[in-house]
Amino acid sequence: MNSMKELFSIPDLRILSYGTAISGGLLLWMLEGIKPSVYREKRTLHAKINLSLAGLNLLILFPSGILMAYMLEWSKQSWPGIGMLNLPPAFEAVVIILLIDLWMYLWHRLNHETALLWRFHSVHHSDPTIDVTSSWRFHAMEIFISELLRLPLFMLMGAGIEHLLLYSLLMTPVIEFHHSNITIPPALDRLVRLIIPSPMMHRLHHSRLRSEHDTNYGSLFSLWDRLFGTFLMREHLDNLRTGLDRESDENRQQLFALLRRPFRPQQT
Ligand SMILES: [Zn+2]
Ligand SMILES: [Zn+2]
Repeated sequence: MNSMKELFSIPDLRILSYGTAISGGLLLWMLEGIKPSVYREKRTLHAKINLSLAGLNLLILFPSGILMAYMLEWSKQSWPGIGMLNLPPAFEAVVIILLIDLWMYLWHRLNHETALLWRFHSVHHSDPTIDVTSSWRFHAMEIFISELLRLPLFMLMGAGIEHLLLYSLLMTPVIEFHHSNITIPPALDRLVRLIIPSPMMHRLHHSRLRSEHDTNYGSLFSLWDRLFGTFLMREHLDNLRTGLDRESDENRQQLFALLRRPFRPQQT
């Protein structure tokens, strides 16, 4: 039942997951400085705001990770979930990773289609310019609700903390990559988006137009958008305006203004 742990130890996965997130983030940050896709000023100030939000989120994610590890182990004793099928460990891990990614797709879509959840998720979309630090820009309430909802779902699936760590090891660099402001040839972007959401795909997801930002919800795999009809692409994104009208104005980009945003009357 714990066979994935025979393939990877949990501390190894944890270190790999943090290491990949940090080194991937730093590498993309450097590349954005050398050859950005869109030239921007005040890059460091922008990063400070986004990383401050990320810092607050870590205060939720660390204890929640410990609680989740304990709860998943405990629930497996009475409900093995997918473990009932006795699949080979590597195959079981693939199925669980696909199921987690499907949930991430549905959760992201729900954030766009539910007025209450959009209040929190719109903080991510209010970023006027997109770069690797945008991949960490989320309101703490969005993170809290997400953690609350995914725990029972993962218990039902029979996922272990090792599966979650493996998923995070794969997903975090992909999310950093598709938010990054690096120049990649359009042909490479086309190739990449056959498997994962590419930078051009996710840039369109940050469009100011609702018809464009209510598309391309994928986190790790682009397959769900194709399967559920939410995939959108246009060849030229040169005239694309990212962010949200009014909410992306400079005077609304301070940390406290962003934290307060979901609790004041909505304009977008
Ligand atoms: Zn979104
Ligand atoms: Zn995004």
